[in-house]
Amino acid sequence: MNLKLCFIVSLSLLLPCQALLPRENKALSDRITGYSFDVSLDTEAKTVSGKMDAYWVNNTADTVPEIRMHLYMNAFRSNRTTFYKESGGSPGRKESDPGWIEIKSFTGNGEKDLLPLMEYISPDDGNRYDKTVIRIKLPEAAMPGDTVAVAIDFVTKLPSAIRRTGFADDFYFVAQWFPKFGVYEPSRDGEKGRGSWNCHQFHANSEFYSNHSVYDVKISLPAEYVTGSGGKLISEKIDDGMKTQVFRAEDIVDFAWTAWPGYMVFKDKWNHVDITLLLPETRINQVERQFTAVKNALEYLDSHVGPYPWDYLTFVDPPMKGAGAGGMEYTTLFTSGSSDRMPEYVNVPEMVTVHEFGHAYFMGILASNEFEEPWLDEGVNSYWEGRIMDHYYGNGSGMIDHRFLGISDKAVARLSYVLSPVRQIITNREYAWNYPNDTYGMMTYFKAATSLHTLEGIIGQETMDNVFREYYREWAFRHPSASDFIDVVSEVVRNEHGEKFGSDMNWFFDQAFFGTGICDYRVTRIVNRKHYSYEGIAEDDDEESQNSDSLYTAIAMVDRLGEVMLPVEVLIHFTNGDEILEVWDGKDRYREFVYTGHRQIEWVKIDPGHKIAMDVNFVNNSLTEKPSRLAVRRLANKLLSFIQFTFSLLLF
Ligand SMILES: [Zn+2]
Repeated sequence: MNLKLCFIVSLSLLLPCQALLPRENKALSDRITGYSFDVSLDTEAKTVSGKMDAYWVNNTADTVPEIRMHLYMNAFRSNRTTFYKESGGSPGRKESDPGWIEIKSFTGNGEKDLLPLMEYISPDDGNRYDKTVIRIKLPEAAMPGDTVAVAIDFVTKLPSAIRRTGFADDFYFVAQWFPKFGVYEPSRDGEKGRGSWNCHQFHANSEFYSNHSVYDVKISLPAEYVTGSGGKLISEKIDDGMKTQVFRAEDIVDFAWTAWPGYMVFKDKWNHVDITLLLPETRINQVERQFTAVKNALEYLDSHVGPYPWDYLTFVDPPMKGAGAGGMEYTTLFTSGSSDRMPEYVNVPEMVTVHEFGHAYFMGILASNEFEEPWLDEGVNSYWEGRIMDHYYGNGSGMIDHRFLGISDKAVARLSYVLSPVRQIITNREYAWNYPNDTYGMMTYFKAATSLHTLEGIIGQETMDNVFREYYREWAFRHPSASDFIDVVSEVVRNEHGEKFGSDMNWFFDQAFFGTGICDYRVTRIVNRKHYSYEGIAEDDDEESQNSDSLYTAIAMVDRLGEVMLPVEVLIHFTNGDEILEVWDGKDRYREFVYTGHRQIEWVKIDPGHKIAMDVNFVNNSLTEKPSRLAVRRLANKLLSFIQFTFSLLLF
């Protein structure tokens, strides 16, 4: 999802806001699960109903006695669901028009009736009114290598107020709409029989976790509806006012689709990728912006991380009445977000498109567990969003690009973190739904992205790129955890820098991701102490004599105000124009740099290259020596500080 949209609005005040079996050949993933649907959309009843055939393969060494599935749509069933309670009352959701899913029949291998064996469970909070997870005790346990095939008749009623999924008049966004397998995880230490289902309830602050699957989806709906989906259109038939379409998608973690008679459809191509864009007629003037943005993201991630492996993608800019479906990702289908009047200098549609496309990599290909480690998709993806936006739309203007005002994408992420009053109460070890109020977005998106920009500053962009290339190479179409990612970082950094940063990078992640400390380095004071002559009389200290042979002890004093310790550079500038760049390990509370000679220090700047984005206060990173007598220079100093302050806010 995309949280930056809201932040930008409040920051800038600029917006008018607003075949079922796994295919053996060339499969990208293990295809442990697969789904096949034959469903129809009832535009009167606002339901999607029909049949689902699905399978799960026990590819572990465990004997598994049960299966678990998500029934996400039940989150919208009543005001007692966990989702509803956690969101403090889902905004705008009408009690009279809820969403739900009902299973009409449920059979397993060999036509066994599994319905009596199905029960609702609430593994996360014990809320008996939450019906978003079911457990089915299998008549016979699934042995290693067994396939459990299920056939389910179901009806899904879409909710009226769209929060990712639902309908608004004749607009439909159909997501989280079918019974979906959880992820069976064998024990990490290889202990036989100790695995378990990872199948969490639907929470307000969490997204999803799934195996890569094959989807064959047959949808019938009134012929006037224009559709888009995460699959490729295989066939289409129109008969008696009804349209039947068949889609196929391979190796994606979720399948969503949309239908609205008002969509305009546009096509473009980037290398091997056929791109389809659906948007309202009122936004035709944004088509070029949208295609440019998605092609920029494709090009950048393809060259810096790894290949985009599918040959198609579809993206949707929903109409205003369906804006709640905007800014969401389903790998080969994603939604952007815009409004009919979007000034050219506000790169919000581009930002949302770049962000949501990025999830094809971080969550789609690298299918991390969004319930448990949400920063691994949102934070990592926001980091890349910042790089892509600032690369293509200007280093200081990736987000707002006006001749009187430029704001970079990275700066917005950083400010969202450093200005947050709750930035020190939580760590990224929490599950998504355990984050205290108002900290989920700040931590998961913005602190994580800012920390990754800092990591890039420390190890260098080239090493950072190699980290992600290796992460992709090793973990694509699997389920990496945070510790898997950190291991890759450590390995690549060690290969490229030896022991320069220690034997591993845990010291960085422990502080930046799993600690609550802040990072703040400060220039405390500058001293230029003039040496006394042999007679004990001070040498001339008038202006004219300062460039003479007078001897000085020049001292730059810096200190660490926060708990976080990172290596920082300190630039010392002397009155004669000399500069020395010192490297400080940043560990002590206080450090002096002392120089004896004929030079005096004019100014000192910590982290002149803005590598440590996590530093919560850039203003105290520099200090200019206070001239003793001249009021004019004092004024100039203040002006300089003001300019530094302004630029420190805007230019990162
Ligand atoms: Zn996101």
